[in-house]
Amino acid sequence: MKIILAKSAGFCYGVKRAIKLAEQTLKTKPKPIQMIGDLVHNEFVVTNLKKLGLVMLNNLKDLKRGSFIIQSHGLPQKLIKKLSRRNLSIIDTTCPKVKKTAYLAQYLEKNGYQIVIFGDKNHDEIKTISSTLKNGPLIIKNITEINKIRKNNKIGLLSQTTKSDDEFYQLVNQLIPMTKNLKYFNTICPASQARQREAKDLAKKVDLMLVIGSTKSANTLRLFQICKNYKPLTYLIESDNFIKKKWLKKIKTVGLTAGASTPDFVIKNVVKKLKLLSTYSL
Ligand code: SF4
Repeated sequence: MKIILAKSAGFCYGVKRAIKLAEQTLKTKPKPIQMIGDLVHNEFVVTNLKKLGLVMLNNLKDLKRGSFIIQSHGLPQKLIKKLSRRNLSIIDTTCPKVKKTAYLAQYLEKNGYQIVIFGDKNHDEIKTISSTLKNGPLIIKNITEINKIRKNNKIGLLSQTTKSDDEFYQLVNQLIPMTKNLKYFNTICPASQARQREAKDLAKKVDLMLVIGSTKSANTLRLFQICKNYKPLTYLIESDNFIKKKWLKKIKTVGLTAGASTPDFVIKNVVKKLKLLSTYSL
């Protein structure tokens, strides 16, 4: 059985940066080192940071003097203001790509555009961006929700960093007749774009696709959807333990990709297990 691993599979720049900052913080900053929410959406990363001493809080009431890490998707402005009034060392790991989208949203708002964000309103990244605006943006999760957008002279469109290019431009085309002045910024992250492109190409040429990552990770779920469109025989697995031997029957080529928050060792273990299973079945 041939195993093909996508070149871009695994950690992106923003995730590497967040983990590095968190690890440095755990070594050097005043204890306890606390945070709310996941640094990145991967259980293996979070478990490892907890082992190194990270304290996960459910509520600000439990906050103690020490340090606080802001997760890679950021936090709502209200929460950051409350944190800054406490006696804390604050370490912000918000990905610069998310900050850039927030900046563009503020720019469009200042210039009188009705902001539309193509994304999931429950995702931390979208909550962070929305919180920087004076008026609530209109958030649409998929193209079928376009009827939520009312005709407006000035519409400013942005995207969650993990959305797909194809859907974003479909939305742009549908918005053109709805407004005299459409300004849009494709804020889909290049790391997501590269992973999506490669996943699509790979899914087209293999017998089976495996997408490695957490079900909490938006970019992993997007890779899964894309692969499934081109290769119905696609499975989402969190680790090698999720592989089922029966999936590999009569399979000659397996394609592998992984979300931007999936650690290298998890990907390597999947490759190892696949090799073992294919050798065993010979
Ligand atoms: S996928 Fe892009 S936006 Fe998300 S953390 Fe990585 S670099 Fe930042």
